[in-house]
Amino acid sequence: MKRVYNFSAGPAVLPEEVLKEAADEMMNYEKSGMSVMEISHRTELFRTIIEEAEQDLRDLMHIPDNYRVLFVQGGGHMQFAMVPMNLMKNGKADYLVSGLWSKKAAKEAEMYGDVRIAASGEADNFTSLPDLRDVTFRSDADYVYLCLNNTIYGTLWHELPETGDIPLAADISSCFLSEPLDVSRFGLLWGGVQKNVGPAGMAIVIIREDLIREDVWPGTPTMLRYRTYADSNSLYNTPPVYCIYICGKVFRWLKQQGGLEEMKKINQEKADLLYDYLDHSRLFRPIAAKKDRSLMNVTFTSGDAETDARFVKEAEAKGLMNLKGHRSTGGMRASIYNAMPAEGVRALVSFMKEFENAE
Ligand SMILES: *Cc1c(COP(=O)(O)O)cnc(C)c1O
Repeated sequence: MKRVYNFSAGPAVLPEEVLKEAADEMMNYEKSGMSVMEISHRTELFRTIIEEAEQDLRDLMHIPDNYRVLFVQGGGHMQFAMVPMNLMKNGKADYLVSGLWSKKAAKEAEMYGDVRIAASGEADNFTSLPDLRDVTFRSDADYVYLCLNNTIYGTLWHELPETGDIPLAADISSCFLSEPLDVSRFGLLWGGVQKNVGPAGMAIVIIREDLIREDVWPGTPTMLRYRTYADSNSLYNTPPVYCIYICGKVFRWLKQQGGLEEMKKINQEKADLLYDYLDHSRLFRPIAAKKDRSLMNVTFTSGDAETDARFVKEAEAKGLMNLKGHRSTGGMRASIYNAMPAEGVRALVSFMKEFENAE
């Protein structure tokens, strides 16, 4: 069976090597006579899987020793709640709103305390990021929150706000492991893994130890406390065993590719192919502001909804799938995550040229 080029924003493309390896191991994992889906999370077999996954992630991101790595089931939306429930000790947080995901995170946080929107890009329909030079934060805010890569609009914060002693909490779902990141700049990082790391159903939280609090929001359920995951090495109850196993394989694959410095180089080359074409096209134009461009999600449009729809349909006939943009932006979006090969991007650009010439 021929595989397609899948430009979906998430759940998204995974490395073929990883899928093949998982297929090979499906019926009989490590001579156990069982699939990973069938083994207990209390076995030595699984303990090795989760410990190696954590260590490989630590190596890839150079995670300092005073940060914990937590595997938390439930997706991104659950982190919208867990962050304020666990971090709002003064009941105050400042949010940078750069798209739908940070807007929803701010709205969820309002249930637990006083949320101030420090800046918003909504007036621009989030096609560019607010200027950080004009932004101030409340000195008694418990944290400042942002979404690093804005999946829907194709923008990326290339610079981080200066927050002094206030911990910075960031949603890194759609740029997770796409390039090196200085973990020590953050108090908390979380990413839903279904964008750039693994199957849906889990978020990975990287949190500085002193922020793992006992005195969380009253009534916070056991499973929504970061402390529960930290104290049990994410094994308080049955974790998403198969999801962790696949994430671990992706971490190993990333190490084999040469780590995140190398991934950034490859991702930059892939993104440049698309942006260079878009900057010179007579038919298509990029949607996100040039200074804020994402390496992972590239948004563009012809400016005409009918032409865009025809483009998406004809691209699918060529095996270039899921290029339709989010319903809030229209146009197209090509998500070119780590696992999208350069050939896929070249095939897309080549088809765009063909489509443009036929117009
Ligand atoms: C997809 C996405 C989310 C939402 O994730 P769910 O797991 O569907 O809740 C949040 N933030 C970002 C940046 C995303 O790309």
